[in-house]
Amino acid sequence: MSCKSDAAALEVRDLAWGPDRGRPIISEVALAAAAGERIAIVGPNGAGKTTLLRCLYRAYRPDRGRVLVDGEDVWAVPARRVAQKMAVVLQEAPADFPFRVRDIVLLGRIPHRQGLASWSERDRRLAAHALEHLELQGMADRVFASLSGGEKQRVLVARALAQDPRIIVLDEPTNHLDIRHQLEILQLLKALRITIVTTLHDIDLAADFADRVALMAGGRVVAFGPPDQVLTAERISEVFAVRARRDPSRDGSGARFFFSIPARPVQAEAAE
Ligand code: ADP
Ligand code: MG
Repeated sequence: MSCKSDAAALEVRDLAWGPDRGRPIISEVALAAAAGERIAIVGPNGAGKTTLLRCLYRAYRPDRGRVLVDGEDVWAVPARRVAQKMAVVLQEAPADFPFRVRDIVLLGRIPHRQGLASWSERDRRLAAHALEHLELQGMADRVFASLSGGEKQRVLVARALAQDPRIIVLDEPTNHLDIRHQLEILQLLKALRITIVTTLHDIDLAADFADRVALMAGGRVVAFGPPDQVLTAERISEVFAVRARRDPSRDGSGARFFFSIPARPVQAEAAE
């Protein structure tokens, strides 16, 4: 397990949230990340992954349960304090405002800014460092809207880095990226060695990336633990309603499973 002294520990206890009371979308959610640990949340569309993340980064106030960052309830402290520790990379890219890459990355410094003061030397230095880290120096003056999907994603991660967070929460950071860029972004996140909670669609990428995986279905965490314990063929088959078969020739890297749609029972077809 990687561990860095300025990474934050995260704990989620018995969490529930719904748009109306009595109609929970997630419930009984519990998980924990030690400082520097990477957690991947996987599960089918509609399982409640994004909703859980929204509770983590203090967008949704839970109906039940708590989210603790370094033992501190995120709702017991001001939003700004949470933002100073936690950066968020969402699927929705900022609208096509004519912002330049450099300015978007500087926005990561907002939680640390004193009032309406202009950017400090430190703000500019951290933003420049983040640009460099994501190999975006050459694009600093480009307009965000003109970038490719992969480049945009890197800018959003750079903005999160400029925030100098103790924990990063990401929603499907590999969406719309080709496989090379998917691997690159995950490798880069891994190298940060801070606490990371991310949703991921790809089972193999999740297993390779995370120290622990939370498998969600129907608004609950059905399994949480080391990837190879959680991501069994049986569980995946059940949760995703597919036929998952382990690749017997796998030699420690590459895809773990073959997936197919199970043949429907003959009786069920006849009944339609
Ligand atoms: P996932 O990210 O796993 O695909 P979501 O967390 O986005 O799933 O959504 C889980 C379910 O909750 C979906 O059926 C979605 O339509 C519903 N949902 C999410 N947010 C709201 C909301 N604010 N109001 C009503 N339903 C919601
Ligand atoms: Mg989602």
